[in-house]
Amino acid sequence: MASVELRRLSKRYGPLAAVDDVSLKVGHGLLVCLLGPSGCGKTTTLRLIAGFIEPSSGEILVGDRMVSSPARTLPPEQRNMSMIFQSYALWPHMTVAENVAYGLTLRKIDRETIAKKLAAMLATTHLQAFAERYPGELSGGQQQRVALARALIVEPETLLLDEPLSNLDANLREEMRFEVRRLHDQYRYTTVYVTHDQSEAMTTADLIAVMNAGKIEQAGTPEEIYDRPRSEFVARFIGSSNIVKGKNLDHSRVAFAGTALRCEGAKLVPGGETAVSIRQHDIRLLTAPPQTVENVVPATVMRQVFLGGSRDYMVEIAGGIQLRVVVPAEQDIPQGAAVWLHLPPEHCRALVG
Ligand code: ADP
Ligand code: MG
Repeated sequence: MASVELRRLSKRYGPLAAVDDVSLKVGHGLLVCLLGPSGCGKTTTLRLIAGFIEPSSGEILVGDRMVSSPARTLPPEQRNMSMIFQSYALWPHMTVAENVAYGLTLRKIDRETIAKKLAAMLATTHLQAFAERYPGELSGGQQQRVALARALIVEPETLLLDEPLSNLDANLREEMRFEVRRLHDQYRYTTVYVTHDQSEAMTTADLIAVMNAGKIEQAGTPEEIYDRPRSEFVARFIGSSNIVKGKNLDHSRVAFAGTALRCEGAKLVPGGETAVSIRQHDIRLLTAPPQTVENVVPATVMRQVFLGGSRDYMVEIAGGIQLRVVVPAEQDIPQGAAVWLHLPPEHCRALVG
């Protein structure tokens, strides 16, 4: 196993920079998710790592071995990597066992060793019962497991996954996220996992790199990305945030709805304007004005819905600005009621860009 490092990596197609000056280090044995909307450069980054395409500039290192640079690109078969495509690409005329063992057969490993490794891999991926079936006789989730088993059996140094769950229906997708994570924990191959689904990234990744227009906007643990988004793009992409704007009063406070909203995150330039992200569930809803007045804003309940475990409010503050607030279901306040919002400063994240 080895780390994977991208150093100022770019891939240009004519005037378009599909990957634009990306630097990222994935520690040995970690699972990183490249997360971003369609067209942001995820697949291109993965194909650069796999060696299917050459960088326009920059380098890729695996451990301390340089595998890609504009001067020299090591071919995919010499990289000791396995890649799983969105379409799985299983061989329809081969059984599950033959598909899974294929990489070992190619490497001319003796039959006994192959049989042993195959049995172990089929057991790990819960495919024993399907060993003699053909891909066409399997469900989507089972085909997905075959693709995973086939990629893992060759014991790659690095595992590359491109939207591996996007062909599955919602329930199965959720189940398979945990499966991918379980297999990762068992084998600990350095893994680069591409997805446009933020909850998939949250459940599987050690590290998330949020991409936008060929660049990494922010890289960090799922907690960091969720709790401390740095840019408006990241806050909006991860979702469940209110994003409000105000004039900067000093280095840490923004004029907002008649109060001076104290924020953390980006340092404010007095006189400028800043967007602030506040998660829906980080706002406290009070039915009487509190003792402290810092970061408190009066509001009116516009509507609320009961969601079982929680209650989802839409409230309106000065200037007709609407905010969503998620609180415990017990907090049942009627439509039209006056409320006070407490926006804790540690949850008000000043954003850049
Ligand atoms: P993602 O996987 O995030 O959806 P891609 O990496 O596939 O995005 O594509 C990033 C951008 O690069 C897109 O605008 C895409 O159209 C462009 N692109 C990808 N491959 C090529 C290519 N071979 N030639 C020209 N443009 C390409
Ligand atoms: Mg893609």
